[in-house]
Formats: sequence, C-alpha cells, structure tokens
Amino acid sequence: MRVLVFSDVHANLTALERTLADADEYDAVWCLGDLVGYGPDPNECIERIRHLPNLTCILGNHDAAVLGLIEIEAFNHEARRAIQWTRRELSEANLSFLRKLPERVVIGDVTLVHGSPRQPVWEYLLDSQTARYNFDFFDTSFCFVGHTHLPILFHLNEVDPYPTGGYLPPNQAIQLTPREIVNPGSVGQPRDRDPRAAYAIYDTETHIFEHRRVDYDIPAVQNRMRSIGLPLRHIERLALGW
Ligand code: ZN
Repeated sequence: MRVLVFSDVHANLTALERTLADADEYDAVWCLGDLVGYGPDPNECIERIRHLPNLTCILGNHDAAVLGLIEIEAFNHEARRAIQWTRRELSEANLSFLRKLPERVVIGDVTLVHGSPRQPVWEYLLDSQTARYNFDFFDTSFCFVGHTHLPILFHLNEVDPYPTGGYLPPNQAIQLTPREIVNPGSVGQPRDRDPRAAYAIYDTETHIFEHRRVDYDIPAVQNRMRSIGLPLRHIERLALGW
C-alpha cells in the first residue's frame, strides 16, 4: 500500500493543495495532526483533509487547544492569538471532526502519534536522548511523528547507546529498517530553513519512505494572513522556513 504521510498543515491551504497535487497516486492518507493553528484557512484545510480517501488522522496540540482540551496558556502569546481566532472561525462540523481524532493509532507495524509515543500530544522529539526513551513506549517497528516540523529520522541499534540518524534528504527514497522514529516534516510551516512544503510517500510492503519537498505560493498565504491580522512573526517565518 502506498501511503501519503503528512503533518502540521496548520491551516495553510495553498501548501496542502500543492502537496496533494504533487503526491500523485496513493491508497491511504496518514495525517499526523495540527491541521489548524498559525494559518489563515482552518475550515478549508479540515474539509479538504477529512474527505481524503482512507484517512487516518491524529490529534495535534493546536487541534486540542482549539477544542479547549489543553490550556491555551501553554502556548506563547502569538500562537494563542492564532488559536483564539481559529476557535471563532471553525464550523460546528469541523470542530466535531477534530473532537473525534485519536491521540495514537497503530496500523500494521507503524505507530502514529503527533508528538511522541510517550506523550502523544505534547512532547518534542528533537534529540537522540529523548528519542531513546521513547522507543520504550511503542511496540511496532516504526513510529511516525510530527510536531517539531523537522524531517528527522532516529534509528535504534545495538551498537550506539543513543539512536543514530538525522535530517532526511529532500526528494530521496530511503529504506526504513526496524526500529525507527520518523518525522515527515511540516506541510504548512516547515522549520528546517527550507520553506517548501514537506511530506512523505511510504510503501507499507517495502518500507521505502520518500521525503519530498514542493514549492508553493507563499506570498498568497502571507497576504491572507495579513488581511486577517494574524501575528507578523508567523507571516514572516513562512518565507524563511523556520
Ligand atoms: Zn505543529
């Protein structure tokens, strides 16, 4: 099965549409959370995502904050403003879609979470030490995560005390080997200094994982954010990819 894997769309419809067009054919979609927050198109993004074929979708921390499941004070001032705006905007049908999202799903030999297997909604997997602890919190060969907006792989092995790995090279297919934690990067707000939308195509039989990057019309999104009055920092960072 060929799976489109993506995360952290963050209400950026232009980046989402480019990703879906670039992905060609796929049999299923795994979305790792944070459909909303930061961006100008929360309703449009949820509607687009919830109608994708064979969708499995996970709850992210921004989704949870919009629903009031986690304290909005846990976010910085600017992220909070975007969450409050999103709350006012979302239709009842889209809120109810978010309310049904699970924090963790296992499909075959892959566990799907937003943050980490230890703390599915909140923990950031940024370093190999934190990743090491998290290998004890899932049983499958692989775990796919989002949340950091960084396309990263952590590989657990017998030789090194901490997992090895690093950033995924753009537009290259790599062979996954047990056990690994993999992040496809972010569609709507990449933070690895590459502003292009990030996603992956994963083959469940061969375990080939292809991290892809695709250009999209960033100024168009920035203009929509400006007209709504979303925080300047969130507008500017899109062009810089951080
Ligand atoms: Zn996010």
